[in-house]
Amino acid sequence: MGLATVYSRAQNGLQADLVTVEVHLAPGLPQLAIVGLPEAAVRESRDRVRAAIVNSGYQFPNRRITVNLAPADLPKEGGRFDLPIALGILAASEQIPNAQLSTLEVLGELSLTGEVRAIRGALTAALKCATSGRRLVLPAANAAEAQLARSVEIIVANRLSELCGALHAGTLPTKLAAPPNAVPDAALELADVRGQYQPKRALEIAAAGQHSLLMMGPPGSGKSMLAARLPGLLPPMTEAEAVEVAAVASIGSGGFDPQHWGQRPYRAPHHTASGVALVGGGANPRPGEITLAHRGVLFLDELPEFDRTVLEVLREPLESGQITISRAARQVDFPARFQLIAAMNPCPCGYLGDSGERCRCTPDQVARYRSKISGPLLDRIDLQVFVPRVDPDALGRSENRADGRAADSSAQVRERVGAARARQLTRADKPNALLTVKEVERDCVADSDAQALLRLAMARMGLSARAYHRVLKVARTIADLARLDAIGSAHVAEAIRYRQLEASSKSGAG
Ligand SMILES: [Zn+2]
Repeated sequence: MGLATVYSRAQNGLQADLVTVEVHLAPGLPQLAIVGLPEAAVRESRDRVRAAIVNSGYQFPNRRITVNLAPADLPKEGGRFDLPIALGILAASEQIPNAQLSTLEVLGELSLTGEVRAIRGALTAALKCATSGRRLVLPAANAAEAQLARSVEIIVANRLSELCGALHAGTLPTKLAAPPNAVPDAALELADVRGQYQPKRALEIAAAGQHSLLMMGPPGSGKSMLAARLPGLLPPMTEAEAVEVAAVASIGSGGFDPQHWGQRPYRAPHHTASGVALVGGGANPRPGEITLAHRGVLFLDELPEFDRTVLEVLREPLESGQITISRAARQVDFPARFQLIAAMNPCPCGYLGDSGERCRCTPDQVARYRSKISGPLLDRIDLQVFVPRVDPDALGRSENRADGRAADSSAQVRERVGAARARQLTRADKPNALLTVKEVERDCVADSDAQALLRLAMARMGLSARAYHRVLKVARTIADLARLDAIGSAHVAEAIRYRQLEASSKSGAG
């Protein structure tokens, strides 16, 4: 018949648009022309498809072959279309039956020997395929990930020859996808961090209201240990959220590991990370750390060491929950609803305020160090807390809280956080950290004593209007943790304490 059509999908950000692969065989000088792919991708794909067909025991047609990938203006990474192109050539040359192809969507890169290799973004393709009514043929290595899209029928392809055999026999072994049960990551237990009652309290408030948090303390005080335990304190994700997280990881360079299904991401990029690595970008834009941390935690250790222009870029996603990457011809939106946890030393040497009295930094040096973080960014961090170094000799005593109870486990904190978050969702359908100014005025009304206290503190600490609203949001979360509807002066007083680093940095030194 000389003509065949195979469906496939492109990957553009989190989009997976349908691509039609048309193959036409005509008499004439033998050649293979591929239309609709970038030049380099065409060259590579041509070689792989030809070798895979021959090495799978089929004939490469001695005809003039035209392959058209439509629409032509979609960004296409070549590899994923190898398998649909090969099937199209074999069907057009009547070496495999054509009948079932229209019921399938096909993705997969081919090795020269005809093995089907993994592609990026299988989950986003599977989510779209599920709405098309077609079945999805994809590499075995991507099957577990694609399963996370409910109600898509998956056909696993290990080798081109094996898939063609099944098409001949008319028996494509499908399996219906269903996500596995989420397993919380139990490895990081809050009670394993000894002492540190105050920072743990700040972490619990951050978890309850999805507030951003800056920890300041000397090296070795356990700031990283605390940050790594935050995902384990957060409420479980909904299935839709878990699918979002998996889809984002699926288009990232690391791919999605189904063992992490349902776990909130935790990303801790080094301060030498480039802007593209942090924010996303590239010719075929890939997600950066802030997107890979979507619905989870982004931990920036040694905050003042990060490139200041990169930090400034964080301001937009912190407000909007997404990032727009613009490239010459196209624009890609990635989600970036991450919770920011940052850490820094109190001074260049790290030991200002430490009991050992080792710090020799001058007030000027301290001020210069702290001013590397801009006011506008600091303004957007809801909670600031000092994390002291724990004296090993005093651990026996500080292990216990002031009221004599043992340190709380992650599970105990998670339960309180869950209850406080449920109150927020009932009231405003969002965590307190995301309340708009109007919503703060509606939902975060403090009693008159608390208001007087807040006005006094604002004047004395010289805080901005933005900081004023942040204090009220944090006070709202503290009241939610206490299961109270009214915000009292104790809640406001505690919320003000979490802005003291900002006040002290404004006065020049700690
Ligand atoms: Zn110092």
